[in-house]
Amino acid sequence: MTRWLPPLEQLTGRAGEWRNWGRTQSAQPQYTARPGTIDEVAAVVRRAVERGGTVKALGSGHSFTGVSRPRDVALSPENLRGLIAVDAGTKRVTLRAGTRLFEVPALLAPHSLAMPNLGDIDRQTVAGAISTGTHGTGLAFGGLATQVVGATLVDGTGSVITIGDDDPRLPGVALGLGALGVLVEVTLQCVDAFVLDALEVPLPLDEVTGGFLETVRSTDHHEFYWFPGTDVALTKTNTRHPASYRTRPLSPARRLIDDRIVGNEALRAMCELGRAVPGVTPGLVRFAAGATGDRRFSDVSTGVFTTRRTVRFRESEWAVPLDRTMEAFDALRALVTEHDWNITFPIEVRAAAADDLMLSTAGGRESGYIAVHRYYRDTDTDYFRETEQLMLSFGGRPHWGKMHTREAPFFREAYPRFGEFLSLRDTLDPHRVFANDYLEAVLGQ
Ligand SMILES: Cc1cc2nc3c(=O)[nH]c(=O)nc-3n(C[C@H](O)[C@H](O)[C@H](O)COP(=O)(O)OP(=O)(O)OC[C@H]3O[C@@H](n4cnc5c(N)ncnc54)[C@H](O)[C@@H]3O)c2cc1C
Repeated sequence: MTRWLPPLEQLTGRAGEWRNWGRTQSAQPQYTARPGTIDEVAAVVRRAVERGGTVKALGSGHSFTGVSRPRDVALSPENLRGLIAVDAGTKRVTLRAGTRLFEVPALLAPHSLAMPNLGDIDRQTVAGAISTGTHGTGLAFGGLATQVVGATLVDGTGSVITIGDDDPRLPGVALGLGALGVLVEVTLQCVDAFVLDALEVPLPLDEVTGGFLETVRSTDHHEFYWFPGTDVALTKTNTRHPASYRTRPLSPARRLIDDRIVGNEALRAMCELGRAVPGVTPGLVRFAAGATGDRRFSDVSTGVFTTRRTVRFRESEWAVPLDRTMEAFDALRALVTEHDWNITFPIEVRAAAADDLMLSTAGGRESGYIAVHRYYRDTDTDYFRETEQLMLSFGGRPHWGKMHTREAPFFREAYPRFGEFLSLRDTLDPHRVFANDYLEAVLGQ
């Protein structure tokens, strides 16, 4: 017997304007739903289907593309947070999907567990981060979606589906672009809590690029930042140790100066000054390159992996085959050097393991990631457009949450499992209740 459902108006609240963090997307959804249970999520989806509407599961709005842009019903993650279960034997942890990454360490600490790898920040929700293929760096580690070993979701018919680690749908659902359902619970394969020893040093750029492949193979987590117009790279290399390893955290004063003042406030001032007087940018960038880096500390993993980013920017990031990463970087360096693009943000280079997720940027190949950024108030688009063309010539695949202009025909070629993902979408979302403009562009109708 079908249960009675309240009308959508009773399941939702007043919708305000939605904007993403990078201020590249905004929308005015009709309704905002704040469900706290699986049944409530299912009711919202069913009601939306009945009226031919759409539901967009919101994360924390940290994607730069329109992947998370709501049309009709925006489904907020705020009441879908917290720890559900911990299996101490397998180290598997089930979280409600809207849990923010910065909430996870405190939930796992009593169990002496941690997520094996993270990206640069921890503001995202678990579901949002995995759904676009968020990654960190480290050749022995895949992106966050590779940590997913199970999920419970509400599909596009309003049915609740539970997926285990041997379910053939998992490689689609773990990185599903929000196209397959509303994730309500996510089970992650965690590891014993660990300490990272962080070494951050500026080095000559040629030395860093020449040794990149060897360094990413011989260290746990390595990345570098290059400030255009300089010949220096800021390198960050983190080494994993057991939780018993002695920690030497940054003092609160040093963290304040490095991360808040130099990393954010000075950067903000530099971006604004660079906008007002473009000619000063190269000098400012050289100064910034000299003022950052050169520190060693050790801390619990989450305190090292992530930093605070308060200066808004836009970003485009490309995964290229690992062995072509430095060739692609050198070509980008040449491109940037020959243009007067007034760039205040460094270019970031990372690496990740190959995986077998259907839409993972590292699907089937070890990958290097090259990311370009612009201050959010800079309106120029040439830098990203030309970077995109260049990265395509190296077999680049764009990060799903970061700016690009690729569409479905491209992805069909770029991803061997693209057709499989589309079939899964047809099964799980036959009415396209989870569609939005971005998904129509990258997946097709
Ligand atoms: C400052 C900054 C730093 C960043 N650093 C990194 C980095 O180091 N590495 C990296 O790879 N990326 C990075 N990103 C990109 C970011 O991690 C991704 O865009 C991520 O998807 C954002 O997560 P979110 O929670 O904000 O999700 P949103 O952007 O809000 O949503 C992303 C997608 O997830 C879907 N989704 C959300 N919740 C659910 C749910 N419950 N069920 C189903 N689908 C859902 C949405 O519908 C949407 O399709 C960064 C972004 C910013 C702004």
